[in-house]
Amino acid sequence: MDKLTGSCLCGGIRYEIDGSLESFYLCHCHRCRKDTGSAHAANLFSTTATLNWLIGEGQITTYTIPSTRHSRSFCRVCGSAVPGAQMDGKLLVVPAGSLDSEVPIKPDAHLFISEKANWDSHLEGGPAFDTLPS
Ligand SMILES: [Zn+2]
Ligand SMILES: [Zn+2]
Repeated sequence: MDKLTGSCLCGGIRYEIDGSLESFYLCHCHRCRKDTGSAHAANLFSTTATLNWLIGEGQITTYTIPSTRHSRSFCRVCGSAVPGAQMDGKLLVVPAGSLDSEVPIKPDAHLFISEKANWDSHLEGGPAFDTLPS
C-alpha cells in the first residue's frame, strides 16, 4: 500500500502513514458522539503501520477520559482530530476524516448501535444537495 497522508484543518499538523490499515469502525457510543460532535466516530486501526509526523507534532494535545481507554488526540490550534496511539502504543488509531488520501478500505461495522443518537437512522433517505441548499 502507498503511503497515506493526512492533516488538520489549520494545516499546522501533517502526517504520513506507512503500512496497512486493518480495520475501520464507525462507533456510535455516547463518548464518540461527544468526542466528534457528530453521529459517530469513524476510525481506522492498525497494529503494524507506522505513523510519521511531517510537521506540527508539538501542537497535538491528547485527552483521555479518566479511568477509561477513551482518548482523543487533536490539534491545539483548530481542534481537528488527528491520529494517536492506544493500548500502550500498540494500536494506531486514525480518524478517517483527517486523511487527505483516499481511504483504502470500507467500514467493517457500526459499533455501539445501542447508544446511537435518536436522530441517527435512515439518514441516506433525506433530501441531499451537492453543496449548500439552493
Ligand atoms: Zn490544526
Ligand atoms: Zn465509541
